Amino acid sequence: MSRADGIFYKTDEEVELIRTNCLMVSKTLALVGELIRPGVNGLDIDAQAEQLIRDNGGVPGFKGYRGFPATLCISVNEQVVHGIPSNIEFKDGDIVSVDCGVLMNGYYGDAAYTFALGDVKEEVMQLLRVTKASLYKGIQQAIVGKRVGDISSAVQHYTERTHRYGVVRELVGHGLGRNLHEAPEVPNFGRRGQGPRMLDGLVIAIEPMVNLGVKEVETLDDDWTVVSKDRLPSAHYEHSVVVRKGQADILSTHKYVEEAIRKNTNLKEVSDLIPLPV
Ligand code: MG
Ligand code: MG
Repeated sequence: MSRADGIFYKTDEEVELIRTNCLMVSKTLALVGELIRPGVNGLDIDAQAEQLIRDNGGVPGFKGYRGFPATLCISVNEQVVHGIPSNIEFKDGDIVSVDCGVLMNGYYGDAAYTFALGDVKEEVMQLLRVTKASLYKGIQQAIVGKRVGDISSAVQHYTERTHRYGVVRELVGHGLGRNLHEAPEVPNFGRRGQGPRMLDGLVIAIEPMVNLGVKEVETLDDDWTVVSKDRLPSAHYEHSVVVRKGQADILSTHKYVEEAIRKNTNLKEVSDLIPLPV
């Protein structure tokens, strides 16, 4: 179903297809959580992620999307998003944002997680915890009758007003379905009560990108990698959700990736600052 504002609301059947894809994304992020550690590189992890997706009948959603060359976006430290997996080894103390998309049965799934490798500074761990919490602050607003600006405002208020970080403006969350990026845009900044009103069946990816320092970003010469302008670390957490009455239904999950992180002694857990929805 489509409306004049370009938003495609999803039927329950479509939502279940998207949920299946989001689950595959979540399992892929869990595989990353098993593999990632100092001394391994992004290219090796990317190859295994692609294999897992294809073994399960999916197609990497990002590979070939506008020419992106890989299955995962792997963005290290000051890299915000859209980092290209490389043969550079991860180091102790790195934070690594991994974004994954899957295309299957004509629909996409999309989610992201930022990992902490080894001895990450406490100030950076707090950036990760706050960014992850801000994702759930946004999700709390993704209910029937609210407006997209309510999500935007919740994320911005928590990250910028409460915690004095810089929220990236140039990149935003998005509708999700037959296209990886559909209407509406879901910015991580904005005003309460503004933007499109959300109806039942709206599927959106909510994805705060939060910088330890300034909010401004730049794109590197590879035309993909977005970095913070001051080169301070940046975090990124993402879920795909469907807007419902009273409470959003989160289609992706961080459950599997966090199980993997607990078992991987090379990683630090990013604990929850706010109670998460069940
Ligand atoms: Mg994503
Ligand atoms: Mg996304």
